[in-house]
Amino acid sequence: MDLPTLTEMRLPATRADLAALSDTVVPLGGGTWLFSEPQDHLTGLVDLTTLGWTPWERREDGGLSLAATCTMAELTRIPATEGWRALPLFRRCAESLLQSFKVWNTATVGGNIATALAAGALIGLGGALDAELVIWTPDGGERRQLVSAFVLDQRRTTIRRGEVVRSIEFPAAAMAATTAFRRIALSPLGRAGTVLAARRDADGAFVLCITGGTTRPEVIRFPGAPAAGELAAAIAAIPTWFTDAHGAADWREAVSRLLAEEIRQELVGTGSAQ
Ligand SMILES: Cc1cc2nc3c(=O)[nH]c(=O)nc-3n(C[C@H](O)[C@H](O)[C@H](O)COP(=O)(O)OP(=O)(O)OC[C@H]3O[C@@H](n4cnc5c(N)ncnc54)[C@H](O)[C@@H]3O)c2cc1C
Repeated sequence: MDLPTLTEMRLPATRADLAALSDTVVPLGGGTWLFSEPQDHLTGLVDLTTLGWTPWERREDGGLSLAATCTMAELTRIPATEGWRALPLFRRCAESLLQSFKVWNTATVGGNIATALAAGALIGLGGALDAELVIWTPDGGERRQLVSAFVLDQRRTTIRRGEVVRSIEFPAAAMAATTAFRRIALSPLGRAGTVLAARRDADGAFVLCITGGTTRPEVIRFPGAPAAGELAAAIAAIPTWFTDAHGAADWREAVSRLLAEEIRQELVGTGSAQ
């Protein structure tokens, strides 16, 4: 839709050009959310895509660095790489976002995380793989924060005026993990009722991130394989289930318990603990 209050569109070439950001001049990623509803408080946009960031890079320590401007399509084109056993989870999470061809090719990883929807497709990915955001601060510095700590609530994050998400850093150990994914919706093409992304590390650690059914990403960790009862108890302790048109809170909790047990069996085996 048109955003009639906009009077400027900036095309930055360097980081210094981001100084234009304010309460009413905000970063533009792919624009798929910004242009999907009225933004009457905005007077300008700063298009991050003109900064020309490389979509993704292998870090020296074997981890993965994704630019905030990496699109959903680019994310799923990262080739199979030695040591990156977790790569299939990237596609599973990206595809959990209900989207047209246009959204697929323009929505960015940074925009998805910064929008902070409960069903934030890349939020669950970052939560399960302990990804850290590199956030550029207006004083020229940067701060780092786990994706799971960045998202505080639906549509609420820790981002402050003038800050920009620069990249999402995935540690090598998490990239080497075995992963599993489950998603359910009330209808075949419905918005997610709950989304579960999980990993099992080489040292046996088990990490599960639940989004979609909770108002913020909920990360559950066990140093080794959890027993079925331990995992069910951890899910029962989550306080942030919510009800909306896409599912009731008690349904979301119940199906998450079932799907988590499926994941436990997939990643750990059917025994009580291994
Ligand atoms: C029809 C439709 C269906 C959708 N369904 C889903 C869904 O199922 N799951 C889901 O997760 N999302 C869904 N979304 C919303 C989705 O999160 C966004 O469309 C998309 O991921 C946002 O990415 P973008 O790059 O287009 O962000 P933009 O629209 O460009 O920006 C979104 C917000 O993030 C800010 N922002 C962008 N980049 C940065 C950055 N690098 N640093 C700081 N702030 C930044 C912008 O200022 C803005 O506030 C849907 C949207 C639409 C229109």
